[in-house]
Amino acid sequence: MILLRGTDIRDGKRENLRSRINDIKEKEGDKFIPPTLVIFQIGDNASSTVYIGQKKKFAEYVGALVLHINLPEYVSESDLIAEINNYNMDDSVHGIIVQLPLPRHLSVHNITNAIDYRKDVDGLSSTSLGLLVQRNFKLDNDVIKGGESMDKFKNLDFKGFIPATAKGVITLLDEYGIEVEGKSVCVIGRSVLVGKPISLVMLAKNATVTICHSRTANLNEITKRSDILISAIGKPGFIDKTFVRENQILIDIGITSVDVKTGEGENVRKVCGDFDFEKIKDAVEAITPVPGGVGPLTVVSLFENLFESFHNSLL
Ligand code: NAP
Repeated sequence: MILLRGTDIRDGKRENLRSRINDIKEKEGDKFIPPTLVIFQIGDNASSTVYIGQKKKFAEYVGALVLHINLPEYVSESDLIAEINNYNMDDSVHGIIVQLPLPRHLSVHNITNAIDYRKDVDGLSSTSLGLLVQRNFKLDNDVIKGGESMDKFKNLDFKGFIPATAKGVITLLDEYGIEVEGKSVCVIGRSVLVGKPISLVMLAKNATVTICHSRTANLNEITKRSDILISAIGKPGFIDKTFVRENQILIDIGITSVDVKTGEGENVRKVCGDFDFEKIKDAVEAITPVPGGVGPLTVVSLFENLFESFHNSLL
């Protein structure tokens, strides 16, 4: 069994971003504005605070800047959209994201659509997702060639940003030399954030994709037929031996915090994936661990998208 570790790949990619940003800093001198990401957090959801903390730490390491805008839980949709618009128009800002989940009175659709798609580094607006459906995105990490300021993008054949988790999955498979073309890929989960973008990029890489969800009948018969099984459901340990077969490649997107009892009877929080890892790991060809699989590459992918937007602003 091959353990598909994202952490090692993350470290290399982080160094690469750091040195590319540093090179530009030296070249630009006094004119240098760091790659700048605005993160909106609404309320004080504890998991969101942890995820934002990871992004700030990553940014600090590579030489990017994160502006963390924490608005109160009760902020109105129009006030939030007005705030987003301010940053849409600010040329020193290269990326804008809104940390999900949002309070129930705010529409994810309206809020993500308020972000200028050229700064939508999470790739979740209707325009970005439309570009994904049209296959109008880059599967490699070369920067886009283009104009001199954000305004000049109007005349460009702009390509959308791939949502970070989907991009992280591609990176992981590429780095391990796992070919996708012609393979049968089963994705469990159809969310706009994870399941659908992953399915679309797999399709773009010429896989034959099956998308499963909570109403799929005979799920474990379908999952067993695939060469690559990707699970994004958020149910710890749900995928057991009955869902997998020999020679399969397993990618676990699920991240759920659960309480586990230690030998001393103490309760500790542990992060678990969708796979019953210990029971299935030896039955398959390759598998991602949780934590340490796709998760670290999601953060890398977000900052690669930011770097691309930043680089575009210099052209
Ligand atoms: P979500 O919006 O709740 O979507 C879950 C999907 O799983 C839905 O499509 C749902 O089907 C399907 N599902 C639920 N139970 C199922 C079952 N028993 N059988 C088959 N399908 C089932 O969650 P999400 O935002 O996509 O996130 C999924 C997981 O990925 C979570 O654990 C999240 O924390 C994790 N995540 C990880 C990363 C990373 O970087 N690794 C990034 C983002 C999210 P229906 O559509 O029919 O309801």
